[in-house]
Amino acid sequence: MAVQEPIKLHRSPVIPSAGFVHGFPERTGGVSSGLRSSLNLGMRWGDDQANVDTNRRLLAEHAGYDPAQLVATRHVHGTNVWRVGEPLAEGAEFDGLVSDRVGPVLGAFAADCIPMVFAEAEARVCGAAHAGWRGAVAGIATNVITRMVELGARPERIRVALGPSIGPCCFEVGREVVDEFRAVLGELPGLIVEGPNKNHIDLRVASRTFLERAGVRAEQIDDRPPCTKCEGDRFFSYRRDGREGGVHMGFIGLT
Ligand SMILES: [Zn+2]
Repeated sequence: MAVQEPIKLHRSPVIPSAGFVHGFPERTGGVSSGLRSSLNLGMRWGDDQANVDTNRRLLAEHAGYDPAQLVATRHVHGTNVWRVGEPLAEGAEFDGLVSDRVGPVLGAFAADCIPMVFAEAEARVCGAAHAGWRGAVAGIATNVITRMVELGARPERIRVALGPSIGPCCFEVGREVVDEFRAVLGELPGLIVEGPNKNHIDLRVASRTFLERAGVRAEQIDDRPPCTKCEGDRFFSYRRDGREGGVHMGFIGLT
């Protein structure tokens, strides 16, 4: 049997280590096979439940949290944010999570979309979000900030890390996507690179802009993660492997 590779967990320097557990794992160190090799954390695309459960447990043990405490977003490319523990309607959907309690670990699944984690150390509030282009342009990041503020956070104290996600190098979009971003954000340097046939969008520039407009300080945003599509040895990518591939997760919880 092959020796299992170790889990590689990236922790952002902008998120305080005191008071929070957080991270963004690479794809190695799990038990799934094929294009999902090996630390696939998502269930929706058809991996064995047992593999995913094992992977989530291995990650939790590595990071130091209870796997039973994982609470994850639903990925509907919307902008709803759930405060963990508040009454939830049957079938409610959300792409963002916030919490002010010790225990729950908030997870945001992604495979090219941006997993984002949020921390406010003084108010002891955290958040997580899944931001694809639809959620990004509709304001998911802004909504997470708003809900953290409801729990006592101050925007200028919030720190935000963007996890591994598709970079502007690889994120080709059609004209209608370009138009939507322009309509909401205006002309921003670096947001759109137009080509003769294809346009590229930098979702990190878009996310940073939403966060800064919501009051987050520029130096408290970590927005230069690696590109998931370029780095196949390290990351899953939906645009590269489709639904045969695996899913990553960014996570954060209060300790
Ligand atoms: Zn790339």
